[in-house]
Amino acid sequence: MLIEVVNLKKYFGSGVFKKSKIKAVDGVSFEIGRNETFALVGESGCGKSTVGRCVLDLIRPTDGQVRFKGMNISGMNEVPHDIRKRIQAIFQDADGTLNPRMKVFDLMMEPYRINGLNNGQGKKKVADLMEMVNITPDLLGRYPHELSGGQRQRIGIARAMALNPEFIVADEPAASLDLSVQAQMLDLMKKFQAEHDVGYLYISHNLKIVKLMADRVAVMYLGKLVEVGKTGDVFNCAKHPYTQALISAIPVHNTRAGRKRILLKGDVPSPLNPPAGCRFSTRCPYCEKKCRTEEPILVGDKHIVACHLR
Ligand code: SF4
Repeated sequence: MLIEVVNLKKYFGSGVFKKSKIKAVDGVSFEIGRNETFALVGESGCGKSTVGRCVLDLIRPTDGQVRFKGMNISGMNEVPHDIRKRIQAIFQDADGTLNPRMKVFDLMMEPYRINGLNNGQGKKKVADLMEMVNITPDLLGRYPHELSGGQRQRIGIARAMALNPEFIVADEPAASLDLSVQAQMLDLMKKFQAEHDVGYLYISHNLKIVKLMADRVAVMYLGKLVEVGKTGDVFNCAKHPYTQALISAIPVHNTRAGRKRILLKGDVPSPLNPPAGCRFSTRCPYCEKKCRTEEPILVGDKHIVACHLR
């Protein structure tokens, strides 16, 4: 298996003495194979980006493991450079990852330079990269602020793909792009995956894109996974009431199709003090007495769900 996340927990201290704990991620497990896109979906604040940051080793988990090809990278004092370069990231905000003082050529050259290539040796590689992400030579001398959002995002993707990674965490990579650029970017990611057998952890709240991109989907609510399955199974036969509500909110073109939107009551509770029993119990239309005291666990074979009623 390419990536295994085992019982991952990430708590952040809160309050003056950091004694209270915000349970951003609370026991999440999944695995991702080569050439597979695994999507993590859920509302803002559910913990999906925190999972991505733990997988990238940008933050250390409180407990649990992240394994890359069987190696527990979250347990290493420092992840070796050779492993780091095989795990890359694409972020929503390419601006934040591009040095505003560097020109496009230097930004594209940077991954190669870090890995020991000089400008002469890297030139051909940068040219190939430019062709792959459709960056024209006239942009090479520009600074990031002189580019459009789509061009900046393509450069961010090019940098992530430069060293032929085996695994990429893509955190809302299309969220800041307009529709035509979104389609180009998703095509690019799919093509790269087909050619290089790369695995993706695709983090998004946009279920329309997830449906197009992902092989499997995991739905996250308040730090926990509530449903995991193949994309077709989850979208066509959602079992968890939260997943059903999310899917019912996807805009449809045919308003006469008769799909009914499920409106959830209330807000997402604070991860500082999550509800006892099922974390979704404060908003679930099917909540029973047992739901308020007993926490449901994920059960099932390929399509797993954490709900007492399923
Ligand atoms: Fe709703 Fe109960 Fe299922 Fe939780 S366990 S999702 S409250 S029915």
